[in-house]
Amino acid sequence: MSATPHREPTVSPLDVEAVRRDFPALHQEVHGKPLVYLDNAASSLTPTPVLEAIEGFYTRDRANVHRGIHELSQRATAAYDATREVVARFLHAARPEEVVHVRGTTEAINLVAATWGPAHLGPGDEVVITQSEHHANIVPWQLLCERTGATLRAIPIDATGQWILEEARRLIGPRTKLVACGHVSNALGTINPVAEVIALAKAQGALVLLDGAQGAPHLPIDVQALGADFYCFSAHKLCGPTGAGVLWGRYELLEAMPPYQAGGDMIEQVTLERSTFQAPPLRFEAGTPNIAGVIGLGAALTYLEELGRERIAAYEEELHQYAAARLAEVDRLIPVGTAPAKVPVFSFTVDGAHPTDVGYLLDSQGIAVRTGHHCAQPVMAAFGLSATARASLAFYNTRDEVDRLVEALHKVIGWL
Ligand code: PLP
Repeated sequence: MSATPHREPTVSPLDVEAVRRDFPALHQEVHGKPLVYLDNAASSLTPTPVLEAIEGFYTRDRANVHRGIHELSQRATAAYDATREVVARFLHAARPEEVVHVRGTTEAINLVAATWGPAHLGPGDEVVITQSEHHANIVPWQLLCERTGATLRAIPIDATGQWILEEARRLIGPRTKLVACGHVSNALGTINPVAEVIALAKAQGALVLLDGAQGAPHLPIDVQALGADFYCFSAHKLCGPTGAGVLWGRYELLEAMPPYQAGGDMIEQVTLERSTFQAPPLRFEAGTPNIAGVIGLGAALTYLEELGRERIAAYEEELHQYAAARLAEVDRLIPVGTAPAKVPVFSFTVDGAHPTDVGYLLDSQGIAVRTGHHCAQPVMAAFGLSATARASLAFYNTRDEVDRLVEALHKVIGWL
């Protein structure tokens, strides 16, 4: 019998043209030009299976969850609850009960700040963030520190947009109770060394919250292997609907946290004198939730799973390299954030032009990029800037679209 020949595992490439057919919004003209959508870090587009899942809820299963015994409510509840399992699989969580449905990353961070925070922080305690955070992972901690008397510290970034790890080693110490940091920077695209920072925090007995708003769309996530305590992301950056997102937390932490908002669905028993509360995750999901949004999130993660996260990552990496090489050809384009490990997010300025003008001129060519401070003013301050233009790519973008961006930039620069 002959030995079975050894084969390297292969992943068949993403069929991007087929993928693009799933995204109706891609197929339109803007200012008379075919749309090139490069604002995916702000919000991604929505594929047909997600639109159908949302429509299916509104047209067939339209009822409230967790309350009705009638068929429609049962169906809505089953679809809503099923998303928890899909999210748990997506994050490699130990159990679906660790998944809390919230409005998005912002609410997830605020939930932890409002519930875990006051019970664990006081004068002399410290919360450590970084200079590359989105405002959603800065302001809640500022308010919490003001309320509790704790101190907020920030790990600075270097000229390439990477955390300065010596500073992290200096700042994370015995007073640190929580480290809250981004998996990937939204303004620069840097993939942050979260494993190192988690190890520093754990050595001091501190908890770690990872803002995964930009990590979850691009990187495989295994919350158990990461060793973080909380992980947050937003559905709308992952091909899902707006107004839905996830707080994942280790179950024993969630179990020890008091309620967030109070009302229906989060209680066990209510008398006029006092109430008892559900176990997590329902303890944190007061009131009628965003049922359609949660169902849409489940459909989005299922869609990504079916396309294959590995296949998506391989395609994105190839497109990333192509875009980096093409953008490097553009004279007067100054990249902002040049770390070696990045997702395909390109922040830049154009010598002699305000980023807002660059944004308007690109829009006139049908090209959607983001301009401004990207809700990361401390990042802008680190580079001595008030704004950049940012092109952020998704797996449904193509080399042709990158070429269109580069051509348009040449044109814009010619107009200056
Ligand atoms: N954190 C990061 C890194 C982000 O990029 C964003 C959104 O851009 C947020 C938090 C806030 O997300 P949301 O507005 O969906 O709550």
